[in-house]
Amino acid sequence: MSASTRFDRGHTDDLMSFLAASPSPYHAVANAAARLEKAGFRQVAETDAWDAETSAASAAGSGGRFVLRGGAIVAWYVPEGAGAHTPFRIVGAHTDSPNLRVKPLPDTGAHGWRQVAVEIYGGPLLNSWLDRDLGLAGRLTLRNGSTRLVNIDRPLLRVPQLAIHLDRSVTAEGLKLDKQRHMQPIWGLGDDVRDGDLIAFLEEESGLPSGEVTGWDLMTHSVEAPAFLGRDRELLAGPRMDNLLSVHAGTAALAAVAASGTALPHIPVLAAFDHEENGSQSDSGADGPLLGGVLERSVFARGGSYEDRARAFAGTICLSSDTGHAVHPNYAERHDPTHHPRVDGGPILKVNVNNRYATDGSGRAVFAAACEKAGVPFQSFVSNNSMPCGTTIGPITAARHGIRTVDIGVAILSMHSARELCGANDPHMLANALVAFLEN
Ligand code: ZN
Repeated sequence: MSASTRFDRGHTDDLMSFLAASPSPYHAVANAAARLEKAGFRQVAETDAWDAETSAASAAGSGGRFVLRGGAIVAWYVPEGAGAHTPFRIVGAHTDSPNLRVKPLPDTGAHGWRQVAVEIYGGPLLNSWLDRDLGLAGRLTLRNGSTRLVNIDRPLLRVPQLAIHLDRSVTAEGLKLDKQRHMQPIWGLGDDVRDGDLIAFLEEESGLPSGEVTGWDLMTHSVEAPAFLGRDRELLAGPRMDNLLSVHAGTAALAAVAASGTALPHIPVLAAFDHEENGSQSDSGADGPLLGGVLERSVFARGGSYEDRARAFAGTICLSSDTGHAVHPNYAERHDPTHHPRVDGGPILKVNVNNRYATDGSGRAVFAAACEKAGVPFQSFVSNNSMPCGTTIGPITAARHGIRTVDIGVAILSMHSARELCGANDPHMLANALVAFLEN
């Protein structure tokens, strides 16, 4: 039985839970891993020796495995009968979103206010972080080198906007925000700011002894829950859709394909990377060795040679899924005049002839076939020639591994805002297209 077209509006409800439970890349991959474990996948340690069993190609047959590295996850499912040179079908995505991240010496303040020193991660719409109730989440590293997730999911911090009475120019000239001076959140009152206050607070909240935390990767998030919006609740408002929407759809699609028992001529893979928002160059980013290393090790663990690896990679296709821009009713002129992706019009195929996206004509055909099989409409996105075009992990994956790649995604509004907006049906249309791609 085909697993195609199995997702409906319930997928969007589940996306809302996933978004709310994933305020950091570390949480996102933990939640993806938990869903895959429920579907029978098992974690493999990169430090272990990989053999046929660890890579899910034992005589017993098939299975799902995943590797976690920081804020990245690579998961794959070896179907029965897979050989050493069986190619891969990869859904690629990224786990990180623009936000405010805690500096090494976070404890600061002035004039009776307690503040947290933050850096700007990626390219957020800074104004969208003003006057929001913010929580704090991420990863704590303990004395023994282990890590622990932390999530203070209540109103804790706020970047207060200056009153209009003290900045009359804001209406005529627009809001001008200095990333250093204007973006430092407050988190309470007190003149007695001491080094270590914030980390001591997090140790207390986490039930850890004082002095146990020796490293941290912490970031702010809006504590407002995702919500349906619109006359008929046909829209979804929420944080980090760029690009947890794709991570969630890819996870659901891989789990569904593994559960369906469909005979597959390739090995389906989910690769969700960290650090896309600042260029992907890290040990857990798309421009690092993570994906290539995992795929190679799985070939070799199944008894393959370098020749098998080369054959497998040559037959591999990656669908790189990320959000794109839906046509904005107030700024339609910023779009190409004939390409107007609509919210809830189905997933988008992203094209840029200067390789900001990796899609070419043969890639379009792959995506068109998947959408047709899934019974899902798709739309084309291309930039207005006078506007800069964004990019994503697609071109990097294609160049780094020599893997045929197609850039696709879902059209949203307010990309890089602390609260983005998409259609309520696009997420499950994307998931169904991904299932059809992974199955084919
Ligand atoms: Zn993105």
